[in-house]
Amino acid sequence: MSKHSTQLKVAVVGAGIGGLSAAIALRNAGHAVTVYEKYASAFTSTTLPLSNAISTGANILRIIDKWGFDFKKSKAGLALGERIFHGETMKQMHYIDMKYNREDFGYDWLIMRRQALHEGLLDIVASTPDGMTPIEVHLGQEVMSLDCDEGSLYLQHGEEVLNDLVVVADGAHSKLIHTITNHTTPPLRAGRTAYRFMVPREKIMADPVLRAVYENDEEGFTYYQIPEKGIWFLVTQSDEGDLPENVDSHERTLTSWLFGYDVLAEARKYRETTQPQTSQLVV
Ligand SMILES: Cc1cc2nc3c(=O)[nH]c(=O)nc-3n(C[C@H](O)[C@H](O)[C@H](O)COP(=O)(O)OP(=O)(O)OC[C@H]3O[C@@H](n4cnc5c(N)ncnc54)[C@H](O)[C@@H]3O)c2cc1C
Repeated sequence: MSKHSTQLKVAVVGAGIGGLSAAIALRNAGHAVTVYEKYASAFTSTTLPLSNAISTGANILRIIDKWGFDFKKSKAGLALGERIFHGETMKQMHYIDMKYNREDFGYDWLIMRRQALHEGLLDIVASTPDGMTPIEVHLGQEVMSLDCDEGSLYLQHGEEVLNDLVVVADGAHSKLIHTITNHTTPPLRAGRTAYRFMVPREKIMADPVLRAVYENDEEGFTYYQIPEKGIWFLVTQSDEGDLPENVDSHERTLTSWLFGYDVLAEARKYRETTQPQTSQLVV
């Protein structure tokens, strides 16, 4: 039984990073939490195909550390610096020394696989602190609609679940938010395109052209920007950690997260206009 006399019955919609974090915080505050995830697995974020790496700063690390996140298991890599080059001239436009993170905020900046962050949160969900109510996770249960005034949500087969509090964490493509605001907010083109690649340092060092750029570089982020064309390539590389392969090594089509076009085909279009260092990474 909960130590808290004011325990709320809470429903969280979505088992993404946001939903799981909300569930953990609310459970730790003494509430009875049930998570509803529409997919059969709790790791099916719609953002996965585009973003297998997630960069995590002190703000998130401080919180998940307090919850008992297992950083060793996540095999997170360090990001110590950030360099921005012009993608055509290779002139360095900007450098940020990211070591200030540890000095100023007590945590390094880390890069980890999105799945590792997700799995680490699921481990915390599964381990209930003494006196708290275990979180229930219902997979394969899509929430079809909400009634904000009543606190009820409706599942696929019309089942109604009454709650004291509903947390809607159904992602950037949220459909449920429309049932609250009564209007849709379509995505807008920003006029810039960002391509993001995760490249193991081993692979970079094996290539003479790339080696010349990265040899004396610390682990971290490198951007190649062509501001005149609104293009950003972001490459992350790290000595440590279990980091995913460069996207070109996967036989798959990457689809724009918001607009549905073939990302690799688009990236290849710019290959000819960039320096070898940039195009080498796009392949
Ligand atoms: C390309 C890219 C790179 C990014 N890089 C970073 C980064 O480096 N660092 C960082 O901090 N952030 C990054 N982000 C942002 C970060 O990924 C998101 O902020 C985070 O994933 C949001 O988590 P979420 O739980 O709100 O949503 P999601 O991860 O989208 O999860 C939503 C969940 O809700 C479920 N769901 C949806 N509708 C329903 C329903 N009706 N019923 C039940 N379940 C439902 C979905 O299946 C999904 O599992 C990046 C995002 C993108 C797109």
